[in-house]
Amino acid sequence: MGGANDSMPHFVLVPLMAPGHMIPMVDLGRLLAARGATVSLVTTPANAARIKPLVDGGAEAAGIPIRFVVFEFPCAEAGLPEGCENFDSLPSHNFSKPFFTAISLLREPLETFLREVHPRPSCMITDFCNWWTSEAARELKLPRFIFHGPCCFFILSSHNIYRHRAYDGVEDEFEPVVVPGLPQRIEVSRAQAPGWFAGWEEMQERVYKAEETAAGAVINTFHELEADYVERYAEATGKAVLPVGPLSLCNKDAASRAARGKASSVGEDEVSRWLDGMEPGSVLFVSFGSLVRTQPLQVIEIGRGLESSGRPFIWVIKEAERRCPEVEEWLSEGFEERTGARGMIVTGWAPQMVILSHPAVGGFVTHCGWNSMLESVSSGVPMITWPFFLDQFLNEKLVVEVLRIGVPVGVKIPYHYVGEGGVAVGRDAVEKAIVSLMEGGEEGEGRRTRAKEFGEKAGKAMAEGGSSYENLTLLIQFATEHTAGNDM
Ligand code: UDP
Repeated sequence: MGGANDSMPHFVLVPLMAPGHMIPMVDLGRLLAARGATVSLVTTPANAARIKPLVDGGAEAAGIPIRFVVFEFPCAEAGLPEGCENFDSLPSHNFSKPFFTAISLLREPLETFLREVHPRPSCMITDFCNWWTSEAARELKLPRFIFHGPCCFFILSSHNIYRHRAYDGVEDEFEPVVVPGLPQRIEVSRAQAPGWFAGWEEMQERVYKAEETAAGAVINTFHELEADYVERYAEATGKAVLPVGPLSLCNKDAASRAARGKASSVGEDEVSRWLDGMEPGSVLFVSFGSLVRTQPLQVIEIGRGLESSGRPFIWVIKEAERRCPEVEEWLSEGFEERTGARGMIVTGWAPQMVILSHPAVGGFVTHCGWNSMLESVSSGVPMITWPFFLDQFLNEKLVVEVLRIGVPVGVKIPYHYVGEGGVAVGRDAVEKAIVSLMEGGEEGEGRRTRAKEFGEKAGKAMAEGGSSYENLTLLIQFATEHTAGNDM
């Protein structure tokens, strides 16, 4: 493993402060640092505290020089409650705009840092939502790559829908529309895939403009999984598109697999011991990422479906969901006694990578966040897809219709249309999808085989000489060349 080296470039990483964006950026930083680059990662006090185990136990302890650059987050200035430094701590979605405003106010401290830091920065890699970094980059004549968290299939689809105005003239937001410019026929409705900043045109324009001025895009995916979409996206933008994932695979030891994003609510030893006692491929993992909040009645229906499926499971329930009186009451009526030794509930944050990479896990019920899906792909685990919003409906289409390693639970509309107290999916549909995924005859066998093959390809892509490894080499070369000519 390499250390920082004077002839190597200095990357400055600016993630969006949301778990699904920060976690892969930290992984990217670790990979670059392990290859000898200097890496500075911009964060804020509350976020630094969250990833402290990672900072202490992972990167620094391993001698990998990620520098965490901590800027005060201007909550009050932007109209946010104090301490709301991460998307998952916003009191409601109404605070999204102030949150993006607060992040954009980091431009000034970032510019000061870029001017003063040694060694001089060679290249920025910034989350695609952080459009304001393009202005800092222009000011300092610093090349900038965009980091895209979602899959390339989603990025290309959104790009094409936006550029070809595919929804123009379509009155009914639930009417399926063919996504232009894809190698196969994929249909999606405006309600399912409205675009990142729908209804917020100014922000959307800024984000697309910032994409145009970037040197290229770095994506958390791998060539063997999404070659068609990577090529088409590169053609559509005329820029370098570098798939460098699955980034989660940089976490090789148990400690770094467990310490991602937040401290786990359960010890990874306890989870591993529990899984060790289960048959290979028998356990279902149920978790909906960091942002989705499931309504109480829906939580209960998931539980009932798990119970009637008769399968072993690990089920992650968020603290806020569990605190609901309906859920507490239902749980107190004996769910855990009835499911007994075959079930484990994790309340809060689970060591997801530890769980998915255990051989006992044979299926993942996912909200279709891309990090979760890619972590599942990396572990060769097929999925039950349950999209809620944002990129998730298109991610589902990639996994179910293109890669054919997923069974849809049957959600057709985003969760906010279901309304409070509503249930999008009943227990029977949950049970049916579980049986189909975990058994499913020849089709089920095919899904499992394909998932395993993608898992193997993922590992090869990240290994020395693999496609993602070589793309990271290209990124380092690009930044090294720039460092040489850097006259800042
Ligand atoms: N995650 C985790 N434990 C949890 C919930 C989530 O480690 O209990 C991690 C998960 O492994 C993934 C990220 O948080 O890396 C969630 O990102 P994703 O894109 O799947 O969904 P989002 O949270 O952005 O909706």
